[in-house]
Amino acid sequence: MLIIIFIIAHWYASLFFQTVFLHRYAAHSMFEMNRFWERTFFVGAWISQGTSYLNPFAYAYMHRMHHMHTDQIQDPHSPHHSSNIVKFMLNTYRYYSLVKNREITLQDGIDVNIPRWIAFEKISESWISRLLWAGVYIVIYLLFAPNIYWLALLPIHFFMSPIHGAIINWFSHKIGYRNYKQDNDSTNLFPIEILLGGEALHNNHHAKPWRANFASKWYEFDPSFLAMKLLHSFKIIKLNPNSLNK
Ligand SMILES: [Zn+2]
Ligand SMILES: [Zn+2]
Repeated sequence: MLIIIFIIAHWYASLFFQTVFLHRYAAHSMFEMNRFWERTFFVGAWISQGTSYLNPFAYAYMHRMHHMHTDQIQDPHSPHHSSNIVKFMLNTYRYYSLVKNREITLQDGIDVNIPRWIAFEKISESWISRLLWAGVYIVIYLLFAPNIYWLALLPIHFFMSPIHGAIINWFSHKIGYRNYKQDNDSTNLFPIEILLGGEALHNNHHAKPWRANFASKWYEFDPSFLAMKLLHSFKIIKLNPNSLNK
């Protein structure tokens, strides 16, 4: 039972920081927050993503390129460029590493206003940090798993962030329905997207990338927008007026 709780808690904590901090804040600047809260989010992303910590700069740069060139040849992670989801994950990782290590020339203007905390990033994306988190997951399983077979679930924890990214970016350019006709293949995955923090209302998001609320039909629900409204009401973040435009 405790392991099930751990899987669910890790899934949603990691998803929250990828969705709200990396995607909606770092890549899209949908809200503002002061230095204290920004750094709290950096630390929260490190704790929740652990072994699969994503560098906010590389994530945001790559995601902005995805929006600029969606499903075109310059798109860093269109599913149309890979024959299966594993190759897709590997290709995405390759591009992410090139950006993170500055092994490609970055386009001017794409990298503006991406939050950085360079000293902390060095620690959080180090191999020592990743190995320590792997150790934490293994110890939790050894202490609380009912039997040894449960350890087969450990890779979910090790690769939590790329698993989330791959599910959203692969399937919501492949299957699902479209509310907006666009020159890309993005789709919505209601109601599965509720398990994905609203991120897979992806056709809506591509149509209106400034909107903090990814839901557009009355029956669609974006739980991350609800979380952001709560954070806004507690004055932890300040939603930009533009992000609330229809
Ligand atoms: Zn997309
Ligand atoms: Zn986006």
